[in-house]
Amino acid sequence: MTSHARTTTVVDGLALANSIRQQLTETVGRHVAKGRRPPCLAVVVGDDPASQSYIKGKRRACTRLGMESVEHDLAPDTSEADVLELVGRLNGDDAVDGILTQLPLPKGIRPNHVAAAIDPAKDVDGLHPLNAGRLLAGEPCLAACTPLGIMQILEDQEIALEGANAVVIGRSILVGKPVSLMLQHANATVTMCHSRTRDLAGHCRRADVLVAAVGVPRLVQGDWIKPGAAVIDVGVSEVDGELVGDVDTEAAIGIASIVTPHRRGVGPMTITMLLRNTLTAYEERNSWQA
Ligand code: NAP
Repeated sequence: MTSHARTTTVVDGLALANSIRQQLTETVGRHVAKGRRPPCLAVVVGDDPASQSYIKGKRRACTRLGMESVEHDLAPDTSEADVLELVGRLNGDDAVDGILTQLPLPKGIRPNHVAAAIDPAKDVDGLHPLNAGRLLAGEPCLAACTPLGIMQILEDQEIALEGANAVVIGRSILVGKPVSLMLQHANATVTMCHSRTRDLAGHCRRADVLVAAVGVPRLVQGDWIKPGAAVIDVGVSEVDGELVGDVDTEAAIGIASIVTPHRRGVGPMTITMLLRNTLTAYEERNSWQA
């Protein structure tokens, strides 16, 4: 640390996630106390080992909240037509409130075709073109979970977004694009960077809010960070059996105002926003209020 070192808050995303989950649990409890069935999330998942582990976490989180989760495992030779038929059945099942497809799907199945087949009212991943379009227009919608989690962290940490320079590294449909739109809607001035960006470090150095959603280990160095910036590390990569983020967290400490760690940072908030989206879909589809 230099003599200009500042205090950096290393954000406890798990603590924030737990406090939101507590509120969601109470809301689900109020619905059930009125004699209603609990919300139900249907998960469509391939046989990828990492997916199986993510799904286990999501199932456990649903159960703890008093929600139901139903899993539909796809064999490696499942065809796209089979998946579309399954999605059609889940769309028509009134007891299912949310449909999540855990990527990667078996070979040959196009994720955007599956996303477009999901009933937009059950699209808890926020990837249906109608929901993506509503987000673009700034209208209420089911939006992607990781970007929602990032915005919650920024709100909880009282980061001023109005007029701030926000830089987002990564332009995926899942993270980079939707979080850029959400930051714009919050009146930040947003720069989107990607693999072809020239002088990435220069863009980052101007950022009051820096979101790294790339998947390149420790891409963001300490000297890329503007003193006092809020730094959100979304990336998760494996290096020598260890999980690492897109940001050199140790280097960010003493420079940034806040930084999210790659563990207990954005990840728990992503799952929490999935649970919140499922509850929202349940309430809106049934016109139920807790
Ligand atoms: P993705 O679809 O692979 O997108 C990665 C983006 O990073 C692309 O836009 C790519 O640019 C850009 N990029 C790649 N290398 C770059 C470089 N050297 N410099 C600048 N930009 C570069 O990934 P994603 O789905 O958005 O996920 C991003 C990361 O977040 C991954 O590590 C993923 O595991 C993690 N993630 C974490 C959570 C969580 O809850 N913690 C949730 C979702 C994702 P181009 O467009 O030019 O190719």
